[in-house]
Amino acid sequence: MTSLYRNTSYLMSITERPPVMFVRGAGSYLYDEAGLAYLDWMQGWAVNCLGHAPDIVVAALARQASTLITASPAFHNLPAIELATLLTRHSALDQVFLCNTGAEANEGAIKLARKWGQLHKNGAFEVISFDKAFHGRTIAMMSASGKPGWDTYFPPQVPGFPKAQLNDLDSVKALIGPQTVAIMLEPIQGEGGVNPASLAFMRGLRALCDEHKLLLILDEIQTGCGRTGTLFAYEQYGIEPDIMTLGKGLGGGVPIAALLAKQHCSVFQPGDQGGTFAGNPLTAAVGTAVLNALLAPGFLENVELRGQQLHDGLSQISHDLALGEVRGAGLLLALELGAHIGPQVVDAARRNGLLLNAPRPHSLRFMPALNSTEREIRDGLRLLRQTLEHVLCGQATAQV
Ligand SMILES: *Cc1c(COP(=O)(O)O)cnc(C)c1O
Repeated sequence: MTSLYRNTSYLMSITERPPVMFVRGAGSYLYDEAGLAYLDWMQGWAVNCLGHAPDIVVAALARQASTLITASPAFHNLPAIELATLLTRHSALDQVFLCNTGAEANEGAIKLARKWGQLHKNGAFEVISFDKAFHGRTIAMMSASGKPGWDTYFPPQVPGFPKAQLNDLDSVKALIGPQTVAIMLEPIQGEGGVNPASLAFMRGLRALCDEHKLLLILDEIQTGCGRTGTLFAYEQYGIEPDIMTLGKGLGGGVPIAALLAKQHCSVFQPGDQGGTFAGNPLTAAVGTAVLNALLAPGFLENVELRGQQLHDGLSQISHDLALGEVRGAGLLLALELGAHIGPQVVDAARRNGLLLNAPRPHSLRFMPALNSTEREIRDGLRLLRQTLEHVLCGQATAQV
């Protein structure tokens, strides 16, 4: 590449980026311009569930691109029908709206809940959401999120999203009133630092929703599509949501998201919801291919096995280096560091050939490809241990 294309000043500055550029990806690995390999345990924030450039995604894209990329959301297309059929057959939900990003799916979920409130609950519109929640970056979803500081970021906020505390049922009860229409949460808060909703809490929420005639909305954009070891995280709680959103892993790296609802609250009518690229055949075909891969015999068992391996390995490292808690499920795990060294560890790990994410300054998050091999998990744990020993040793020396 010539130097002309190294000037990044034409891009809006939205985040700090490290001085490395990746030019190729294959499976669990990314390669930089010098050809150096990095074991990728971010995978685009749990997006590349099958790793980089998986054959089935490449094939589905090529096949569909040469057949029909898009007609118009005004017409039916076969890939969208096929994906909606597959999603409803393998979940507790009955109808699907396909869209492009997680935030867009969540916006749809709120519209659906408000419409249901108009029809069945005297115009109730409030959706109780949670501290530290993350639901996306549109104005309304920033208001639904509980990220510290986001309430004053781009004022004014969108009203109607009172905040409760995760795993504190009383904090939810205290917010329920005549305007309440739904409760919305991530089964495991991803961006918030991998904070799982407890079994008792999730079941308590389901009971509260039934008692007060509220909708339970699960944002499974990060936890869905096999990430936690079952196709959807709600399965592990023995409850069913009324509304669920999917994104991230659904397209295996290709932008597609989905809003799903049970029949009783699937109340959109023509004109209520749409989008230029909603349900386009190109990405719907990819979604079907990805879902079929996740449903193949043995696939989810491997997620559980590799998740257990990673959990065990992280626990051993935490024990040996006197770090904190390991939490999460399947291949969405976090390690508590006990000190604000997350960004420093992420930097050092990258220089050591391992890509990690620190959702909070004091914790690391692990989101390997769901088809990771035993050996890849072992290699990553070795690189992580080396990196942590190095960083912690440097800290100890600095303190002397
Ligand atoms: C990533 C994420 C979103 C937002 O998805 P986008 O595709 O970035 O809009 C929403 N909710 C959760 C739980 C997420 O992890």
